[in-house]
Amino acid sequence: MAYLKTLREFRSWLSVLRDRLPLACLLCRSRARGGLCAHCRQAVGASMDTGGGRCGRCDLLLPPGRCADCPDCPDCRHLSPALERVTAAFDYAWPGDLLVQRLKPQGRFSCAPVLASLLAARCRALRARPMAPPFWCEHSTLVTAVPAGPRSLVLRGYNPAGEVGRALARRLKLEWRPGLVLRDRDGRDQKGLGRNARRLEVRGLYYCSGGVAGREVLIVDDVMTTGSTLSVIADALKEQGAAKVWGAVVARTPARL
Ligand SMILES: [Zn+2]
Ligand SMILES: [Zn+2]
Repeated sequence: MAYLKTLREFRSWLSVLRDRLPLACLLCRSRARGGLCAHCRQAVGASMDTGGGRCGRCDLLLPPGRCADCPDCPDCRHLSPALERVTAAFDYAWPGDLLVQRLKPQGRFSCAPVLASLLAARCRALRARPMAPPFWCEHSTLVTAVPAGPRSLVLRGYNPAGEVGRALARRLKLEWRPGLVLRDRDGRDQKGLGRNARRLEVRGLYYCSGGVAGREVLIVDDVMTTGSTLSVIADALKEQGAAKVWGAVVARTPARL
């Protein structure tokens, strides 16, 4: 097991180095520390500052006239009560969507730490707001990721959500627990499916391996569309005794008006 510790230390050292070295910006290719220049970082984060109200529970940008305290968020009505709160680094819109596409279909493994740093900044900002609803409470909170299906693991060779989750846990100084949520079969591709079809599709797809009794868990995913996946996983974690379940996603799909 000594080699595992060495590997962990090496990865940690590598992530510190990555944050400090000038690398090519993933969007504009200019030299930038941490893989994203200040201009592109600001452009990606701008989707969260569009001035409109954002749901205080699922981070959905609400239609004009609704505020964070409105009880009628179209997505929250369908979320499992087991899921406390979800936050996102940015909306799934240009130019942030390009980063997600680099990580997933284009297989750019190196995007994960950049996305994790954007998500960590959003989590920290949320926790620093004194009047905001609470985000995870305990320093002993476990971080895990939505598992990929066997087919996409074979095709890509890695789980995009897992790579972001591991880098996020390191940045937030929380314990990373891969394999807390398991999935042993593929589901249908959810692209283009409506809310009800998505919920039926993910039901029974995920289960918890245990070891969460009394613990708070932060689940990490790349994109949240309706929240069906996070809801099903939150239910599975709660059934195993998790105290509270939170969600952190890289990108939040805006409401379909
Ligand atoms: Zn740039
Ligand atoms: Zn909501």
